[in-house]
Amino acid sequence: MSSIAQNIEFLRHEMPAGVALVAVSKFHPASCILEAYEAGQRKFGESRVQEFLEKEKELPGDIEWHFIGHLQTNKVRQIIGKTALIESVDTERLLFLIDNESAKAGVMTRVLLQVHVAKEETKFGFSEEELADFFKERKFEALTHTHISGIMGMASNTPDEERVRDDFRRIAAIFKRIKMDIAPDLRGFDQLSMGMSGDWKIAVEEGSNIVRIGSAIFGVRNY
Ligand SMILES: *Cc1c(COP(=O)(O)O)cnc(C)c1O
Repeated sequence: MSSIAQNIEFLRHEMPAGVALVAVSKFHPASCILEAYEAGQRKFGESRVQEFLEKEKELPGDIEWHFIGHLQTNKVRQIIGKTALIESVDTERLLFLIDNESAKAGVMTRVLLQVHVAKEETKFGFSEEELADFFKERKFEALTHTHISGIMGMASNTPDEERVRDDFRRIAAIFKRIKMDIAPDLRGFDQLSMGMSGDWKIAVEEGSNIVRIGSAIFGVRNY
């Protein structure tokens, strides 16, 4: 068995049922994705549009592609209709652009809104307050071809596990607040994507049901 298949098997064994594993294949060649595919993996995560499109074209059609990187507005059209889930919607402008392009293409696009809680990490994402306001003001009602399935977030990149746990708690808390208090009538809002190779166990303990794992499956990336 290849090491990629072994890593996937190990992770599946460690993870509770009900947690979806997204294999983050960015910077790794299509041949590595195929190894994972042959081990039964179907969900893959990519973060750059060009790279995603090249892989999507040549790899099996039943792969569920998760787009997880910052998506520039001028590139939205290129990926519409090709993703199972866009996890990294980080502004309202991007969200409504996705909706427009999905309408034009006649498809329904599933997305997660990215929330930003980590201190020193990526600046992308809604703040907790912006996210609460978005749902309080019921702006999602204007969407016709986009379904908001939940929230994605990242913890601070630090060895301090308490800090990481605290970040995941904040992300889970805003998710629950939207789901239970702010917009309890929102249907199909049930995906909480948190956790990467180094911190997925903590994320799952804090309620994550999608983990995005790259290096623990494919090894280190050569940028
Ligand atoms: C690269 C990336 C991952 C995977 O990171 P690993 O540490 O390699 O598991 C997860 N989520 C996002 C948003 C990423 O960009």
